[in-house]
Amino acid sequence: MLKKFLFADLDDTLFQTIEKCAALAPREALEPAAYYSDGSICSFTTPAQRAFFAFVSEGMTVIPTTARSLDSFARVDLGFSSYVVLNFGGIILQPDGSIERDWQGRMHGLMTAALPGLQELGARIDAWAEETGYGGRTRLVEDAGTPFFIVVKDPDKVHANLERIEREVVLPWIADGHGDYCVHRNGNNLAILPTSLDKANAVAYVTERLRREHGEIVTFGMGDSRSDARFMADCDYAIIPRRTQLSKLTVETL
Ligand SMILES: [Mg+2]
Repeated sequence: MLKKFLFADLDDTLFQTIEKCAALAPREALEPAAYYSDGSICSFTTPAQRAFFAFVSEGMTVIPTTARSLDSFARVDLGFSSYVVLNFGGIILQPDGSIERDWQGRMHGLMTAALPGLQELGARIDAWAEETGYGGRTRLVEDAGTPFFIVVKDPDKVHANLERIEREVVLPWIADGHGDYCVHRNGNNLAILPTSLDKANAVAYVTERLRREHGEIVTFGMGDSRSDARFMADCDYAIIPRRTQLSKLTVETL
C-alpha cells in the first residue's frame, strides 16, 4: 500500500485561540495545544480536532506546514515525527529536528535579495502610521539568521484597520513595480512576503524527498487560509476546515 502524508497548517487548522474556540466547542471540552513564551496557553483543540488528529496520525504521517518560527513551533504540543515546514516555507526541519541545510542556503540567498524591498515597504507603512496616528508598526520576522517577511498586527485587534493598510499602502506599492511581493491578510495578521517565500515551494521540496525515500506516495494538504491554497492544490487531496477563510472562499460559497 502507498504511504500517505498530510501537509497540515497548524493555527486555525488543527487548533486555535480561545476566542475562536467559542463558536466551535464548549470551554470545558477544550484542551491546550500551544503555549506563549511565558508558558500561558495560546491555543486549544476541540474534541473534533483531537479525533481528527488521532485518526490521521494512525493512517499517515503528518507534516506541519506553518508560518510559525522555530521558537513558536517548539511551543506546539501535538506530537510530530517527520519533516516540518516553518516560516511560510522558509525553513524545513528534517525528521531528527535539525535544519535542512540545502534548503536553508537556497532560501537565505533569495531572502537576502528580497530584504531591501521589505525594508522599503516597512518604512512606508510605518510612515503612514506616523502620519495617521495609527498605533501599529511593522515587524520583520527573522529566524535562524534569515529575514523572511514583515507583519503588522492591529493593537486593538480591529481587522478593518489592517484592511485599510493593505488597500492604502501595500497594494499600491505592489502595483508600482513590486510584483515579486505578495500580501496575506487573515484575522489580525497582515503579512507581506517575497513571492519566493511560499509554503508550496517547501512542500514540493519535501514531497520530492519523500518520493525518493518511499517511491510513489499519496499526499494530502490541509489549511484554513488563502496562503495555504497553493500547497494544498499541489497535493492529491485538499482538506478544508469549516468556517475558515478558505472554506468561505470555496465550498461555502457554492
Ligand atoms: Mg492557519
